[in-house]
Amino acid sequence: MTVSVVTGGAGFLGSHLCDRLLGEGHQVICLDNLITGNVANIEHLAGNEKFHFIKQDVTEYIYLPGQVDFIYHFASPASPIDYLELPIQTLKVGSLGTHKALGLARAKGARFLLASTSETYGDPLVHPQPETYWGNVNPVGPRGVYDEAKRFAEAMTMAYRRFHGVDAKIVRIFNTYGPRMRAKDGRAVPAFVSQALDGDPITVFGDGSQTRSFCYVNDLLRGIMALARSEESGPINIGNPAEMTILQLAEKIIAMTGSASQIIHEGLPTDDPKVRQPDITLARTRLNWAPEIEVDEGLPITIDYFKSLR
Ligand code: UDP
Repeated sequence: MTVSVVTGGAGFLGSHLCDRLLGEGHQVICLDNLITGNVANIEHLAGNEKFHFIKQDVTEYIYLPGQVDFIYHFASPASPIDYLELPIQTLKVGSLGTHKALGLARAKGARFLLASTSETYGDPLVHPQPETYWGNVNPVGPRGVYDEAKRFAEAMTMAYRRFHGVDAKIVRIFNTYGPRMRAKDGRAVPAFVSQALDGDPITVFGDGSQTRSFCYVNDLLRGIMALARSEESGPINIGNPAEMTILQLAEKIIAMTGSASQIIHEGLPTDDPKVRQPDITLARTRLNWAPEIEVDEGLPITIDYFKSLR
């Protein structure tokens, strides 16, 4: 019996991870304080005797009896409007929460995987971003609460690895989309899809020339599972290098939904990165991983999910 703990297990990525781990026969303990997670994401697991949900803030001491083999630390507000509304909780879960989760890994002799982010690269001056790039982050800007919390989390993870010998790994997750995103989490994909389905104006921030590279959730999870199983410790980028401008994304979503919505332009948020694209050489060579689902396949599945909520 393998026992896996997923912090943030009721969130977008965390809940998909719980599904995968259960699919591999693991017993799964899901910890979430539900401030941005949603029980609807794990509702289908109720009654599964291998799944346990504990409503817990992971910044507080975590007590779990018995064996734990893997800890996946995914708890964090993760969209710009979430961490602007929850700045202190975002800093706390990246710092205190990571410390608690690592402490649990050490106590249990468990393997640990930190969900870090492409935001550690900030507004990057190197493009695409390899893991060796140290980033260009504004610590005192509004996004700093997320970026610096994750950078601290990486430093703490490395310290536990080096000093305490914890078998700890770091994945840097690039923009990921798919079913179970919150319609109103403020991120580009759910915002544009909801606006298109409602016939509301599509709010492109700035002139829309900023770029992102969107990875479908199943590809991301496959990469994370490959890292968890491997002897690599990272940091390792997982994302889809297919880069596009935000304006192109908006136009694509309008076309796919057949919406009559018009694009309007709103102010660019402070410190919004101008470009972002993962260099996935490391994941390709060390994990034998590459994304397989391009946006033309993944976006329609995501659009259908948002339609199903109506
Ligand atoms: N964006 C936008 N309109 C929206 C939401 C986001 O133009 O309604 C832009 C945002 O400014 C950024 C890009 O889309 O340049 C991706 O934003 P998101 O919040 O999805 O992710 P992140 O900025 O963290 O990559």
